[in-house]
Amino acid sequence: MRGLSSALCRAAARTRAELQGARGRRLSHYAAAPARPSFGIAFDIDGVILRGRSPIGGSPQAIRRLYADDGTLKIPFLFLTNGGGVPEYKRALELSELLGVNISPSQVVHGHSPYRELLKRFEDDPIVAVGKGEPAAVMAEYGFRKVLSIDDYASHFREIDPLAPFKKWNVGQSNCQNLMSEKMHPPYDVHSERVKGVFVVSDPVDWGRDLQVLCDILSTGGLPGNGKGDQPPLYFAADDLEYQAAFPSERLGMGAFRIALESIFNQVNDLPLKYTSYGKPNPFVFKNAANILEKIVMGIYPNSQSTKEVKDHQLSTIYMIGDNPKVDICGVLKAGPPWSSILTRTGVFRGTDNDPKFPADLVVDTVDDAVSCILEKECIR
Ligand SMILES: [Mg+2]
Repeated sequence: MRGLSSALCRAAARTRAELQGARGRRLSHYAAAPARPSFGIAFDIDGVILRGRSPIGGSPQAIRRLYADDGTLKIPFLFLTNGGGVPEYKRALELSELLGVNISPSQVVHGHSPYRELLKRFEDDPIVAVGKGEPAAVMAEYGFRKVLSIDDYASHFREIDPLAPFKKWNVGQSNCQNLMSEKMHPPYDVHSERVKGVFVVSDPVDWGRDLQVLCDILSTGGLPGNGKGDQPPLYFAADDLEYQAAFPSERLGMGAFRIALESIFNQVNDLPLKYTSYGKPNPFVFKNAANILEKIVMGIYPNSQSTKEVKDHQLSTIYMIGDNPKVDICGVLKAGPPWSSILTRTGVFRGTDNDPKFPADLVVDTVDDAVSCILEKECIR
């Protein structure tokens, strides 16, 4: 711990010197320009900001400290979560309401946000989106034109789920109107057009049905009930084995579903399941988040200094505040500088010291404590 403290002190002194140097340089040219922070913050959501839909760890006040008195964003930050299931603009609205500040959609990075990068490849291909919430709406929002949720897709195949008559719930009941219109006008003919890609957007709801239907799609080359075929590409938005929700102990996440699907698929097929997982701790996610934070900085200071100067001035530290050592802290360790990790005790991690396998740069009780440490270190009042 002493090593950690001295490392933090050295980093604080270095950052202060850099900050003062940068301020000095700017002041000589732009006397009225505000100081541009040389750091940014990425917040995990589940187990750090919220548990279920309830704010935890003083998160509303912690987040409000990153805004100026007039409500404008002062410190660049974003939410970097493996969760999702709704378009980013909807999550931004929900977070704004829960935290009492104005969050923009660009400040929300879901596990599935990188699916945008796959648009060129699958834009006009029939695809299936899996998971809770509005998985098809998420993909449609990104620009994918021929997407069906697994609920809608499965509803076109009689008897594909032999257990359906025993299920008490009615799939799609809350969205009956949309379901009916999509059934009448599906974006592709599921009985003749092969599914070219499967995207697990959020935690699957009906594991039994989804395991069956995905095995059908993936074993048959995208056309259930039609013999064997080449496996279409399969993507997971995250690979969390467990996550902290409202229940006192962790819940099984998308990684657990992936293990179940992979295990079953490999038992019933000759070739092993191929897939790509996004989400933390994938270093790509951290690189992408760093780029988004730089854009947010440009948004905060559109007229301060030249664009080139701002572009040249990369963030010297990006703090990741998370509750899950295997996901948040491991990701920072893989990503390397400028990332720095802060582990809270409000979610998956409950230890007194530090995680032995994926030690964080700093361990605190709550997200509010984490923000206090950052602002103190960065000399921001
Ligand atoms: Mg978490």
